[in-house]
Amino acid sequence: MNKIFQKFHSLRKRSFFAILFVGLVPSFILTILSYQFLRDRLISSDVTDMATQAALISDELISSDYFSNPDQEAINLELSSVGNVYSGRVMILDNTLMVIKDTYDMYEGRTMVWENAIISAYGDTTSDYDEENRTLTVAIPVMVEEEVKGIVIITESAEYIETILEYYRSFGILVFIIILILIVALAIALSYFTARPLIHVKKAIDNLSKGFGDGTLNVDEVAETVDISEAFNRYNSQMKLLDDSRQEFVSNVSHELKTPLTSVKVLAESITSMGDGVPVEMYQEFMTDIVSEIDRETKIVNDLLSLVKMDKTDATMDVSPVNMNELIEIIMRRLKPIAEKQQIELVMESFRPVTVEMDEVKFSLALSNLIENGIKYNEPGGYVHVSLNADHKYCYIRVEDSGLGIPEDSLDHIFERFYRADKSHSREIGGTGLGLAITQNAIRMHHGEIKVASTLGEGTTFDVRVPLSYIKEEA
Ligand code: ADP
Repeated sequence: MNKIFQKFHSLRKRSFFAILFVGLVPSFILTILSYQFLRDRLISSDVTDMATQAALISDELISSDYFSNPDQEAINLELSSVGNVYSGRVMILDNTLMVIKDTYDMYEGRTMVWENAIISAYGDTTSDYDEENRTLTVAIPVMVEEEVKGIVIITESAEYIETILEYYRSFGILVFIIILILIVALAIALSYFTARPLIHVKKAIDNLSKGFGDGTLNVDEVAETVDISEAFNRYNSQMKLLDDSRQEFVSNVSHELKTPLTSVKVLAESITSMGDGVPVEMYQEFMTDIVSEIDRETKIVNDLLSLVKMDKTDATMDVSPVNMNELIEIIMRRLKPIAEKQQIELVMESFRPVTVEMDEVKFSLALSNLIENGIKYNEPGGYVHVSLNADHKYCYIRVEDSGLGIPEDSLDHIFERFYRADKSHSREIGGTGLGLAITQNAIRMHHGEIKVASTLGEGTTFDVRVPLSYIKEEA
């Protein structure tokens, strides 16, 4: 079955055979039916004619009392002439089915055991068309006061019916061949015109430059190709955006990775060019700088790896129920030394115990980044306030700091990879510009949302909302 479908895989072939089928089957059926109709009409009109003739004979047979006295010259002559008119014969049977007159003089005195004659002996008119011998026979009962006295049988040569039918057959075949040729031509033309717009769409796509080019598809041949063109252009522009952002990402990554390497190179070269007599402290200072540049490089690589992990699909999620209160406490305990060093106060406020289905590693990275930023972009004596709440459906986490704040025009960009609102400060404190991108991706993987509000010089608030139960997305 599959193989049959494969043979008709092309739309052109499918429409060709569909049109052929729809065109030929009805004309074939029509030809057969009209042939049958004509045949039945020809036979039935002759039967009516012969039955009328037989009825006339029957009347005469009764009025001349033929069954008591069959030797009546005038009637026998008339029977012969009727036989001649039909190029056939006339037979008269009595009610015992014995032939009392046969214009062919063959069966007189014999009993006729013929189905139609038997039926007529019970008072019915019958007819029979013998295709092989090309004869048509009609038998009618001769009735006197409801009683069958005998049977009149007229047989005619139906040669002419066959001649007409034969003529019709050859004519029908000719007409059918003409119809066949017309329908095949129509099927070729229509199937070509059905498939043509799709072929044009394919050609137009081939003609567009390779890759996600600027060219647009515009095949306005039929409404469907207009739709396809529009869908294609939408897809193409999305792909182009993706391609652009991929290229931008790669160039950003190379740039970010190159910066510490360049510093290491400059520092190392300086050491070698210093020559003899340089104090050990100087070497130590340069080596410390080299180590910190290497640390920075490592941090960028680690952040990039985290970001790649966060770009994956549901399949990489290791989901389990986690006590959110405990998780936040653990993160804050870990960040406490850094906060104390910067004289930042870390405060946690939780309104109720909350359990969330989540990937603990991914989610704690997201939260750590937010709290760490609150500490990093802050002034000594400031605070980072983390609060936790929930309703029947969602868990709400707010990370609020009293830090530097984010300029309004940067707010839309801070979640972009490698974006830094305050470039020099961020670099100084070892930022990679990837932290918030990682956070946002991690929260999205939990089907959550993150929002930011900030006032320059006053502080920043991040609001996170995640569903309590993790719903795996359909593939
Ligand atoms: P980075 O590694 O530079 O901190 P992030 O992606 O974490 O990168 O943050 C992007 C930028 O957003 C930072 O460079 C910083 O300018 C700004 N930013 C993020 N969090 C805060 C905050 N709590 N207060 C002020 N600015 C912030």
